[in-house]
Amino acid sequence: MSDFAPKEVAASPVEKFTEFLSTRKMRLTQERDIIVREIFSDHEHFDVDEIVARLDKPVDGRRVSRATVYRTVSSLEEAGLIRKVARTNDREVYEHDYGYPQHDHFICEKCNNLIEFRNEEISAILEKVAMEMGFRMVGHRLEGYGICAECAKPPSRRHRKLDMI
Ligand SMILES: [Zn+2]
Ligand SMILES: [Zn+2]
Repeated sequence: MSDFAPKEVAASPVEKFTEFLSTRKMRLTQERDIIVREIFSDHEHFDVDEIVARLDKPVDGRRVSRATVYRTVSSLEEAGLIRKVARTNDREVYEHDYGYPQHDHFICEKCNNLIEFRNEEISAILEKVAMEMGFRMVGHRLEGYGICAECAKPPSRRHRKLDMI
């Protein structure tokens, strides 16, 4: 979940994807169109099986196969519209990259929650290091692992009582 607004973008994800597909001599089929719209309908992190489940019922009389969802997701990743965030609990988690501001994640190793944050100082430090190394950085991704605030809370009284029994 994120509380910062998406960036203004000139072309919609569907338009961007159509552009990418045409460079591969592919076209935006109705199935691909349905999948892209579903993925970009909200900004949550997702895994492919969640999208498969969400498209379980036919959309506009069309049923999208699991294989098509998987293939379309990897094309979307190649096109730079989505990116893999992390692998938690054997889930490959994706998020929107196109039209979404640069941000980093904390990943809770207990509940697998992905927490988004933005910190300008981190970006500035990376820019400085990159410059010193003569590296032209176009973006970055940083993941911190540990225990989230919710999981770090001491067990509730009820739990403690149960433990004593
Ligand atoms: Zn947690
Ligand atoms: Zn994110």
